[in-house]
Amino acid sequence: MLYANMGIRKDNNTPSSNSGPSKGDLEILTARFEKLKLVNMALWTFIKEAHGITEEQLVERYKQVDLIDGSADGKLKVGIKKCTKCGKTLNPKFEKCQYCGTIVSFSSIFEAI
Ligand SMILES: [Zn+2]
Repeated sequence: MLYANMGIRKDNNTPSSNSGPSKGDLEILTARFEKLKLVNMALWTFIKEAHGITEEQLVERYKQVDLIDGSADGKLKVGIKKCTKCGKTLNPKFEKCQYCGTIVSFSSIFEAI
C-alpha cells in the first residue's frame, strides 16, 4: 500500500470529548502534525523546483496570507458567516444552511474547513 510506510493511522485516533484531551490524544495529534509538516515540506519542494520560488518569497507570502484576517498572529481566523436568505449563523462544516436549506457559497475553500 502506498501509505503503509508513512505510519498514518486508520484506527481510533479521534480525541475523546468527555474529559478533554488525554496525554495519548496529544501524542496522536503531535504525530499527525509532524506528518502534515512533512507532507507540506514535500509539496513545497515540488513547487519550489517547478516554479523557481525562493524561501524568501514563501515567507513573504506567508506574512501576506496571515494578514488576510487583519492580524499578523500566525493564525487565520475565518469570520462567522450568516445565511443570505434567513440570516441565521452558518456552520462551516455544511454546504447549506441547516435552518432553511439555502446552498451556501464560500469565497474560499478554506472558509469551509
Ligand atoms: Zn438559511
